Amino acid sequence: MTSAATDGDKPYRVLILGAGFGGLYTAVYLSKYLGKHRPDVWVTVVDRRNYFLFTPMLHSVATGALEPRYVAHSIRKIFRKTRVHAHVGRIERIDLENRQVITAHRSLPYDDLVIGLGSETNFFGNLELERGAFTLKNLEDAARINNHIIRQFERAYWEESPEIKRGLLTFVVVGAGPTGVELAGEIYEYAHRELLRDFGRRITGDEIRVVLVEATGRILPSLPEKLSHEAIRRLESIGIEVLLSTRLESWDGTTIRLNSGATFLSGTLIWSAGVKTNPLVRELPLDKDSQGRIIVRSTLEAKTMDHVWVLGDNAHAIDPFEQKPYPPTAQTAVRQARVVAHNIAARLLRKPEKTFAHRHVGGFVSIGDNYALLSAKQFTLTGILGWFLWNLVYINKLPIIRYRLFSTFGLFLKVLFERATTEVDLCPEESFPESRKDRKKVG
Ligand SMILES: Cc1cc2nc3c(=O)[nH]c(=O)nc-3n(C[C@H](O)[C@H](O)[C@H](O)COP(=O)(O)OP(=O)(O)OC[C@H]3O[C@@H](n4cnc5c(N)ncnc54)[C@H](O)[C@@H]3O)c2cc1C
Repeated sequence: MTSAATDGDKPYRVLILGAGFGGLYTAVYLSKYLGKHRPDVWVTVVDRRNYFLFTPMLHSVATGALEPRYVAHSIRKIFRKTRVHAHVGRIERIDLENRQVITAHRSLPYDDLVIGLGSETNFFGNLELERGAFTLKNLEDAARINNHIIRQFERAYWEESPEIKRGLLTFVVVGAGPTGVELAGEIYEYAHRELLRDFGRRITGDEIRVVLVEATGRILPSLPEKLSHEAIRRLESIGIEVLLSTRLESWDGTTIRLNSGATFLSGTLIWSAGVKTNPLVRELPLDKDSQGRIIVRSTLEAKTMDHVWVLGDNAHAIDPFEQKPYPPTAQTAVRQARVVAHNIAARLLRKPEKTFAHRHVGGFVSIGDNYALLSAKQFTLTGILGWFLWNLVYINKLPIIRYRLFSTFGLFLKVLFERATTEVDLCPEESFPESRKDRKKVG
């Protein structure tokens, strides 16, 4: 392994790709661990956006419960009191051979590289879905879903045909992992508790349908089985239809076809049935697993290349307790960030490095208003208590205190006041990619 020595006055450059859970926290921890030592070390974070996106609360934005800026936090503000520089621009290529990264603006050389570029939605080659389905990966997606739900109610309000009206008010979510389950719950509450109040003169509750489709026999596979059953009970008790062991065959913008042979009208399909590694990462000439994630050593350095560190959704890191790869979660990425930052600083300061071995303690999932399931070791909690804890844990994870206050305030607004039902058309449907424009819509 090569040592991290500096060359005269030349700075030592740590380049971090991605200001998500992995990259952003690595930068903040690295700045903290280096303190006043090694002023020659430059830390730069590159991201296409100038904000850190707090994904666990994205479904609240998609359903009018939180304003977008409560979950999107300026990285420049976060880095203000650190030694970290931000470079905002799309990364086009990672050139490992010449130790440089090419962005839309310039090429950035590095001595240590940290890769935390996250993942993208996996449509498993279904181009029709890729063109037409909604996804929930970023702020634009959340705004689109929010506008679309409101617009479906606007269309349904004056629709005379009961069949078309029901299709307009049928919302289908495919994939019952945490994102799908949480989103289905939020859409149901939004439609029934909020939009019905605005549209109730011509729309009734039993005309609204929320359907959750899952190809396997259980939902929320990352939670203990008991909690999966509890989640189904909760979803069904509030009125969501859960279709297990059911695959979506096709959706043409108006008609859903399932492998069971069932067909029904729906103008909304949200796809949350899989993710795949960022394409820039998939292309790299490093040892990868079948999903394109880079295989790392226990120190989180790439197995086949020194000074390249990988974390979060891009890393295939083995959990020594379970003997399987860590799941792609924010929890994993943040914990790995601490170890990557420690190890880069340790090598620069000639101290011992650490290995990553975190015992996964459980998970959380919120289902609609005032209800969450929590599992941690032997401990499980459901209901409003779980929901409060869910919020406390997530808000506490926000990177700066001011944002924690923002989000707490936003949640109190959600509990005490109505959700927003304004169609703020910053992402009009007409601005969708060319392929989406001409799609036949129900109604
Ligand atoms: C809706 C939703 C809800 C979720 N809820 C939870 C939850 O409740 N709990 C949980 O633990 N996990 C949750 N996750 C998963 C969690 O968000 C990810 O596992 C986590 O963000 C992975 O961190 P990361 O650093 O690997 O990638 P990310 O946090 O995704 O960060 C990747 C960064 O790379 C940037 N980037 C990508 N490509 C380029 C490029 N070409 N040029 C420049 N920049 C680029 C992106 O803009 C992004 O900022 C959720 C995910 C989603 C989508």
